[in-house]
Amino acid sequence: MLDLLLGREARQRGYVLRTLLAASGYLLGVLIAEVALSIGVADLAPARVFQGAALTAGLISYAMVRWGWTRQFRDPALTVAQMLVGQTMAAVAYMLLHEFRGALIGLSVAVTSFGTFSLSRDRQWAMSLYALLTMGTGMLWMSVRDPVNFPPEVEAVHFLILLILQSMAALLGAQFGEMHRRLRTRKRELEAALERIQELANRDSLTGLYNRRHAQEMADHHVHLKVRHGRALAIALIDLDHFKRVNDEHGHAMGDQVLQTFAQQARQVTRDADIVARWGGEEFLILMPDTSADGARLLVERLREAVSGVRVSEVAPELRITFSAGITAYQPGETTDEAVHRADEALYEAKSAGRNRSVVV
Ligand code: GH3
Ligand code: MG
Ligand code: MG
Repeated sequence: MLDLLLGREARQRGYVLRTLLAASGYLLGVLIAEVALSIGVADLAPARVFQGAALTAGLISYAMVRWGWTRQFRDPALTVAQMLVGQTMAAVAYMLLHEFRGALIGLSVAVTSFGTFSLSRDRQWAMSLYALLTMGTGMLWMSVRDPVNFPPEVEAVHFLILLILQSMAALLGAQFGEMHRRLRTRKRELEAALERIQELANRDSLTGLYNRRHAQEMADHHVHLKVRHGRALAIALIDLDHFKRVNDEHGHAMGDQVLQTFAQQARQVTRDADIVARWGGEEFLILMPDTSADGARLLVERLREAVSGVRVSEVAPELRITFSAGITAYQPGETTDEAVHRADEALYEAKSAGRNRSVVV
């Protein structure tokens, strides 16, 4: 029922809700006119025309916003248009409703507060000015044309009340609006900061690759969402060969550079969907969604070729990186730990068999 009235999309619902709020203002105008008619303080024909116009404005604006015709507009909730129409209606009603007209001062201020959270400060003031102009013209016009029902002194007091209330509404509205905008900016900044913190928390600071925790999360995520529906997932565990020697012979800084070089090559060789992570020290894990064990082997061998060709540093031109890899395909029903453990055993086999090679299990 609520879906039918407001639509399903969250943002759209906000607009429709605001439009309904405006429409209830029009309805209030219709009601006031009806009461005025029943106690004989309004003329029938103009009051009916006014009621028709108010109902039409309410229905048209609701239809336009509800069915998304205003979605491309800069102001999809029609806030400014609603306010201008509402304000004009209030001024017209003021002239029609004789003794009842005082109520319209309140309605005019309500129209101004309608823009509090969406209009800029200048527009907010412009709206108040428009209210003073339309209502003021109505007051002046009627006090000249029909001074019996609209005594000039009363109209002067009415205008004064309107002036004070409109100024207050615009002032408070501008302040609220400013606060609202500041909060929105702050919220956006916080969201961006949080996103960055999350990104940092998922990365290894030396290589920029994903860290072990994130790789584990991603592996579980793939297992739960994809593998369960028959999709493949290959895992490769890679360990650099004789890495301790690099540190011993060339220093720790060179060791770090080797790790960074490997990471860079791994990123280049893998696809976007693959997840490359630093599993620990000089050990790396690559998750390859939608890939068989054979496919994973091809990728690892391509990586081996790429890595063996790069010169890590001009300082140690003879230094080359080799690695050993254990590769396995995830088997349905097992945990990710079981699959990684199998890859680890294959890696151990590759080391025992002489290093610089891959073993697939
Ligand atoms: P193997 O071929 O059997 O894997 O031999 P290895 O020397 O690579 O293996 P080992 O596990 O004995 O040595 C790993 C070394 O990696 C030891 C550790 O000091 C070094 N290491 C771990 N993390 C880092 C790091 O962040 N930077 C540097 N420079 N070295 C690291
Ligand atoms: Mg190791
Ligand atoms: Mg090693």
